Amino acid sequence: QAGMPWALETADLTVKFDEFPAVNGVNLKVGTGELRVIIGANGAGKSTLLDLICGKTRPTSGTILLRGRDVTGIGEAQIARAGIGRKFQTPTVFKSMSVWENLQVAGNKHFGVSRNFFCRTDSSPAEQQGKVIDQIGLGSLLHRSAAELSHGQLQWLELGMLLIQSPSILLLDEPTAGMTTEETDKTADIIRSLAGNHTILVIEHDMAFVRQICRKITVLHQGRILAEGTAEEIERNADVIQAYLGS
Ligand code: ADP
Ligand code: MG
Repeated sequence: QAGMPWALETADLTVKFDEFPAVNGVNLKVGTGELRVIIGANGAGKSTLLDLICGKTRPTSGTILLRGRDVTGIGEAQIARAGIGRKFQTPTVFKSMSVWENLQVAGNKHFGVSRNFFCRTDSSPAEQQGKVIDQIGLGSLLHRSAAELSHGQLQWLELGMLLIQSPSILLLDEPTAGMTTEETDKTADIIRSLAGNHTILVIEHDMAFVRQICRKITVLHQGRILAEGTAEEIERNADVIQAYLGS
């Protein structure tokens, strides 16, 4: 993307816990609207990398640029305001409320601030809610209590509660964890349809899923980028096979 800043760029990003470098000199460049998957063994530093990007963890050194703007160390709430939305693994929906009500609450900017989100949308709340409902495919369950949703449906609702804040960058940590094959396929569809309008960073283990959703993969190993490329390139990279896929 000649002349254009990256949607997200990290330069020599490092965090040490005591002396242990969990993320170590990572240079990541993600284009606007790109869907990038990060893979790597347990403990490779994937979640910590997302923690750094969303401001939850402060780097020991290195920088984080959003559309060319240095946001290093500005804090989690400010990063959320700058348009980064992070989905965690544990759902935080309100079980006593319906799908629609959960989205309504999540679209409220006070709720957003309390969860370190920031509502950036210009459209009316109901209009925005309708759009998100379509994106997460829960149109037939609008008035269903969240307590009655399946694991997959809860995860999609949670994603919707993030989308209603209109983030430009989505960080998704293992979005298919615990899902059935059918739910995983639907999640792939949802994520694919969000790409383009959002820049998306997904941590994922399931290579079949990874092949379904993305063109470019970043492999993390012991806190460093070991390789980057398509699924085909990654799968025949000797270093990757030895460090990760072969095990
Ligand atoms: P992954 O998500 O790739 O499985 P993590 O990013 O969770 O890996 O962890 C990377 C390494 O950093 C692990 O060795 C983990 O134990 C360590 N680590 C993560 N967070 C902390 C922390 N807050 N304090 C100390 N060590 C941590
Ligand atoms: Mg992790």
